[in-house]
Amino acid sequence: VGAPTEIRKNICTHCSVGCTVIAEVQNGVWVGQEPAWDSPINRGSHCAKGAAVRELVHGDRRLKYPMKLVNGEWQRVSWDQAINEIGDKMMEIRAKSGADSVYLLGSAKFSNEGGYLFRKFAAFWGTNSIDHQARICHSTTVAGVANTWGYGAMTNSYNDMRNSKTIVFMGSNAAEAHPVSLQHILSGKELNRANVFVLDPRFTRTAAHATEYVRFRGGTDIAVIWGMLHHIFNNGWEDKEFIKQRVYGMDQIRAEVAKWTPEEVERVTGIPGEQLKKVAETFAKQRPSAFVWCMGGTQHTVGTANVRAYCNLLLATGNVGSFGGGANIFRGHCNVQGATDIGLDITSLPLYYGLVEGAWKHWGRVWEVEYDYLQSRFDEVPAKAGRPARTRKQNMELPGIPWTRWFDATLSNPDDVDQRDAVKGVVIMGHGGNTVPRMTEMVKGLEKLELLVVADPHPTTFAAISDRKNGTYLLPACTQFETAGSRTASNRSLQWGEQIVKPIFESKDDYEIIYRLSAKLGFADKMFKNIKVENNRPSPEDLLREINRGGFSTGYSGQSPERLKAHMNNQGKFDLVTLRAKADEPEIGGDYYGLPWPCWGTPQIKHPGTHTLYNTNLHAKDGGGTFRARFGVVYEEKQPDGSVKNVNMLSEGSYSKGSELTDGYPEFTYGVLKKLGWDKDLTADELATINKIGGNNPDGVGWAVDLSGGIIRVTLEHGVMAYGNGKARAVAWNLPDPVPVHREPIYTARPDLVAKYPTRPD
Ligand code: SF4
Repeated sequence: VGAPTEIRKNICTHCSVGCTVIAEVQNGVWVGQEPAWDSPINRGSHCAKGAAVRELVHGDRRLKYPMKLVNGEWQRVSWDQAINEIGDKMMEIRAKSGADSVYLLGSAKFSNEGGYLFRKFAAFWGTNSIDHQARICHSTTVAGVANTWGYGAMTNSYNDMRNSKTIVFMGSNAAEAHPVSLQHILSGKELNRANVFVLDPRFTRTAAHATEYVRFRGGTDIAVIWGMLHHIFNNGWEDKEFIKQRVYGMDQIRAEVAKWTPEEVERVTGIPGEQLKKVAETFAKQRPSAFVWCMGGTQHTVGTANVRAYCNLLLATGNVGSFGGGANIFRGHCNVQGATDIGLDITSLPLYYGLVEGAWKHWGRVWEVEYDYLQSRFDEVPAKAGRPARTRKQNMELPGIPWTRWFDATLSNPDDVDQRDAVKGVVIMGHGGNTVPRMTEMVKGLEKLELLVVADPHPTTFAAISDRKNGTYLLPACTQFETAGSRTASNRSLQWGEQIVKPIFESKDDYEIIYRLSAKLGFADKMFKNIKVENNRPSPEDLLREINRGGFSTGYSGQSPERLKAHMNNQGKFDLVTLRAKADEPEIGGDYYGLPWPCWGTPQIKHPGTHTLYNTNLHAKDGGGTFRARFGVVYEEKQPDGSVKNVNMLSEGSYSKGSELTDGYPEFTYGVLKKLGWDKDLTADELATINKIGGNNPDGVGWAVDLSGGIIRVTLEHGVMAYGNGKARAVAWNLPDPVPVHREPIYTARPDLVAKYPTRPD
């Protein structure tokens, strides 16, 4: 009583909206909580989940100390004992069966730094079998969107939907899953007279807020979209200029949807023809139009094809690259976007670098370890019937096992498994088992494991779901409120969360748990070469700096810890909400408490982040906004013999092989190059120079940046990504420092709260 109240800020961990939580702390205890009034995302709101977020820390279900299962009984153990025994068992499994026999399951609840560290841990351990919740939620979105237009993410933002004139929800029940986002939609409905259509087999709470509810038969998403496109093309409502300028492959879609007559669509989907026609006409004419989807669209065997259909509707109607339009993909957990970005995935290294040699070399340079060392961490895989032997190099370039199938590799005869041996150990950090499909098989798989490690703030289903008697460890991990780090909301914005209270009981944060394990396994000295470690705890700031150094591919290089912390404390300084009513307003910084990627930067360059992807207005002052992004409706799939096959994913069914992000860039940047007179291959000298500058190699995965204005310097106001001959890409900048941004607040925050919290000196 009487102790001064300290104010700390973090982000709600219950969903991907990214609402800021203002915590009041007295004597080291989290005593009060308020939503941030001047956050442009939550604007003084929390939903019921967010309002109870303090309970995650102080609730009575917290794990208090490490435990292990002995003959079916839980026994308390020390951290040292737990880490020693886990490490010894991992090494024993490795010696017997290879590194791939220990499966690593990470989390969309990690901070970016924690997730990145776990991916790095997998690399130093020597496996690509690392995954997280996106496998069962939005990985189909990432594959579908990235293959359509380059980036596997939401194009706009929650608060930008106030600018929409039409919003279609399909497979999303935002009123319950992302409640605070709905305030922006309702504002748009009220202020903008926006049309809100909710297409859903069920009448949901979101449907209750719609201007019109459209019921359709579950699983017929593509037919619904085809039906809309049929009306759009038949009546000439498509955006012809946009398609001409920016879209290739639309003719194939036009031909495909011509077959889907209104009668056939009504028969398949159950939607009355006139009702769907009205949705189509409104979406095409009352623009900007946004399309919202969530896991009702993605969790299908044809999830990627569903996503491609949604994208095609947006492209046909010219609703990409504008405020109030776009693909608004509501993701699930608080950091599922970030966890995907930083590579908790069986197919990629951090920031969507593939598993090819050049990508490994890139990260080897960032980590300051030799490529040969990284290669030596992987195993040779001996030949089996029907499969030749694999070298270490081949094994390190092969995707790991998807999380939804790891138990197949445990339950089956090891000879059937496409790796050296079956999975014998699983380390799970921040993941519950409730949502895994094929639960029966998974439980059987758990029972066969020699080692199961569950690190979590609470005991999860994984700890209790099987009839294991021995070899299970429960490690108490911190919540994100007991540590610090950044997280990436669905709108691609990185925000920094401060530590609110010290770790409760004996819990430790993800950074320390991973550090201790890597120290036990013998590679901490190499893995933490660039990272300050104090009391076994690596610095999250240093981890983010390392991500910044390697993160040019996706624009994770400009969100330094210093900038993110400054943004978090910038109440009343930035433009807040409502914001850009006019579509031709130039891009500015500050719609968020964070910095949305792509955001490039160095100590000299402070890019404001990208609030709307593919925004053709970006370069308006520099020649009329005429750079031509082209989007592929048809995905160009490279064949093993080097030829390219056009794959219409919609007619060929589901396609989910992971990110092909780099294939999306050339089309996106083609127009920029044309404008620069660079629509030709780079010469060998130019390429060599780019590679030298960026320390890259010419095998197609490197990125280069010319910070000093050398050979690839360009003079656009914003930086551009450019590609040369399809084998190398470059990023060039000539930005004024600092980048000018508007600083007049539009939204007035509650003055008493503004006065209460410190603001960054301007
Ligand atoms: Fe938390 Fe999501 Fe609710 Fe915001 S909308 S308070 S982020 S659960």
